[in-house]
This record gives sequence, C-alpha cells and structure tokens, in this order.
Amino acid sequence: MIRTRFAPSPTGYLHIGGVRTALYSWLYAKRHGGDFILRIEDTDLERSSVESVNAILEGMTWLGLDYNEGPFYQTKRFDRYKEVIQQLFDKGLAYYCYATPEELDEMREKQKANGEKPRYDGRYRDFSGEPPAGVDPVIRFKNPIDGDVEIEDLVKGKVVVNNRELDDLIIARSDGTPTYNLTVVVDDWDMGVTHVIRGDDHLNNTPRQINLYKALGAELPKFAHIPMVLGEDGSRLSKRHGAVSVLQYKEQGFLPEALLNYLVRLGWSHGDQEVFTIDEMVQKFDLEHVNGSPSTFDSVKLTWINEQHIKVATADHLATHLAPFMADKGCDLDQGPKLSEVANLLRERAKTLIEMADGAVYFYNDFEEFEAGAAKKHLRPAALEALQLLRTKLTALDDWTAEPIHACIQGTADELEVGMGKVGMPLRVAITGGGQSPAIDATAQLIGKERCLTRLDMAIAFVEERAKNA
Ligand code: GLU
Repeated sequence: MIRTRFAPSPTGYLHIGGVRTALYSWLYAKRHGGDFILRIEDTDLERSSVESVNAILEGMTWLGLDYNEGPFYQTKRFDRYKEVIQQLFDKGLAYYCYATPEELDEMREKQKANGEKPRYDGRYRDFSGEPPAGVDPVIRFKNPIDGDVEIEDLVKGKVVVNNRELDDLIIARSDGTPTYNLTVVVDDWDMGVTHVIRGDDHLNNTPRQINLYKALGAELPKFAHIPMVLGEDGSRLSKRHGAVSVLQYKEQGFLPEALLNYLVRLGWSHGDQEVFTIDEMVQKFDLEHVNGSPSTFDSVKLTWINEQHIKVATADHLATHLAPFMADKGCDLDQGPKLSEVANLLRERAKTLIEMADGAVYFYNDFEEFEAGAAKKHLRPAALEALQLLRTKLTALDDWTAEPIHACIQGTADELEVGMGKVGMPLRVAITGGGQSPAIDATAQLIGKERCLTRLDMAIAFVEERAKNA
C-alpha cells in the first residue's frame, strides 16, 4: 500500500511551491489507491505559529487536498523521538558533543584557512573523559566514516554521495529538542511512508536521513525530489514576485481546481494536454513525467487555466466559490436570483471570480446612477420612445422568461422601424447600469420583472431630464 505525506513547517503562509509538493504527494497516493498523511513539522518552537498552522489547514481545505491521516504534530511526539535517540545511544551510534559555538567557529575558520570544506571534525565522537563543565551538550549521530550513500531518486535519478562528505549530524539541540533530520526519519518510519515526495531543497539531507534509517534498522522509503518553482526572473519564487501564499490566490478569485491544474502542469506533463479535471489528474499523474529541472511560475497562464475551469465548472460549484465575493460587495443573495443561475450566465466572460462578482452585483443591488459613458451613448433623447414602448410591452408580459422578453424587444424595434440595437442597448444600460452584460433577454429574466420595470422608469426619467436640458 502506497503511503505519502505532506510535511510543512508552520513558519509562514502555505507557499505555492509547497502546494505543488502537497499536490504531487496527494495525487500519487490517490492514483495508487494509497493513503495521504498531513504532518505539521512544528519542532522549531520559535518560528512556528498557530496562525501558520491554521493557514496551512485552511489552504488544504480550500484546495480539497484531503488527508487520510493527520494532521499529526511533531511537538506531540517528543517522547517518541527521545526513545529513538536512546536506541541510537544503545547501539553506540549517538554521542554527546560538548563543543561550544566559539570552539566550532574556530574549527571552521581553520578549515577554511586550510582550503578545506568546513565540517564538524568529530572531536567528541569517541570522547570518554570528563565532560567540560558548564556546557549543555548537543547530541550527534555517528555517521559512517566511509562508503557511499546511493539514492535512486524517482525524479532526479541516481545520486551518489560519499560518507566523507557528511559530518556527524546534530540530532538533538542543547535544549534537548530533536532536529529536523531525526524527526522526519522517525515519523516517516513510524507512519509507514513509502514515498517521500518533497522539494529538492531537501535532496542534500537525504543521504544523512538514509544513514539514520539504516542505523535504526528501518526500511527505506522511495524518494522523489521535486525541483523548485522560480519567479519570472529565474530566482526562487518569493513575495517579491507577487502572491505566493495559496490563500492569496483564493482572494484573487481563482478556483481551487484551476490552481491545482496549473500547478500539476508546472513541472509535469501528459502529452500536450493543458486542462485537467481533478479526476483526470488523479488518473494520469505519474512521477516519470515530472521534469527534473525547475519551472517558472506564469500568472498569465494560471489566469487562462482559471478561465477554462470557470467555463466548465458546475453552476453550483461556481456559486459556492462566488458567494464570498458577493458578500464582500454587500450583496444579499436572498434578494435576487439564484446565484448559480447568475454564474451560469456570466461564466463565458469572466477570467476570475472577482470579475464575475463585479458583473453580478446589479442582479442583487440597485444602483443610483448609470455608468456615465454608457448613459451618454445609449440613454439619449432619441431612445425615449423605444424605452417607453418597451416598458408598456414588458409591463404586460406575464411569462417573464428570455424568449418573450426577446419578442418584446424585437416587437418594439419593428414598430419603430429601428434596429434591435437601438432598443437593446438602452434597455441594457437601463437595467444593468452599464453597457456590458450577457444576452440582454436572459439578463432581464434573471434580474426579474419588478426590478427591470423600476429601473426602466429610472432610465426614462433620466432621458426626459436630459431632453429637457438639451
Ligand atoms: N518540514 C520540511 C519543510 O517544510 C519538509 C520536510 C520533508 O518533506 O521532508 O521544508
């Protein structure tokens, strides 16, 4: 049974690169009918925060990246890490190191001066004398002295590191708290993780972790290291490139499945297919086609993908995600048509949910003024007759649906011997306040009869006033 995990450190927002790693792990588990685990790596007490944990959980929920187990918190597992450190002591594979920070600095300076790579020189590895007074020791792992560590990485291929490159890793700090490389191994081992899928910024930790697995007699998982996401200037994606937190994308009006679709393609391909439903991603995702080199984040493409998903999403799904934006605009959704119907009408012209919400306000809220440019152009004295005749026809209409509404517009144009536009455009400005909307008959239907007639009256008054002043 395949078991994967996402193991973020709650030291900030949930980063878009982290989301991609989470997605790949999630997809891999789903694809193989396995389990996906969420683990919060919060042992760095100073940098971890509850807000950050909440942002991670909120992000995962919004994205629909559900987990079969967890969230597990490393801070709740300190006893277990102590136990494992004791096992290493018992096997003679851990030791106290009393070197002070100053001593270690001096050691590194000397190594640099001699043209050597700075590394811990193992000075307490075989120490058996009287420990120096007043030093709280760290605990180090006795890394093998020689031989190679081989990683068969599922993305990077074979990576070989000689043990001479690796010094004796600190597995517990002087305050007794365990360090990342130890906790991650203990957890992946205890939680039965079969595939460790994570960012390639951790690739250099992997040989050290493999040595720990071996020291503990634990079975090795498989590793897949995913390349970084870069900003358009080629440096690692960061705040300076714009939004990097997943919740910012939510606020900017992206659908979760669109963000996931964009991220799955960022570094993975399936032929030349660009648009994927979640089900298609699950069916098609594999690690073989993950690109070994970094990918560049492209917000134009993300927006295009969002547009594609808006076009095909179910109306109810659109409405669910659109609703918070409508609330932000002060719209009371009980005072108007069903939001799913409005979303259906607007889906062809919106790239984001923000754009959609902008276009949906007049279905719920009345406006006090017509948009100046549109009014100037379409609510002119010449339109008065059309508006009045149309009002009479619409008032008499019982079946307030698009087709008969259309017939009223057509009938007005025919009677006055003008083109449809000469009736439709004034009507559009009258009932929507502006010059842009979906098909006017369907729009009028959803706005509703009463509201349309009131707004037509307002437009007629506006035109009369204008005619007076002309
Ligand atoms: N907690 C680590 C991080 O957020 C990830 C550890 C891992 O995936 O092994 O970078």
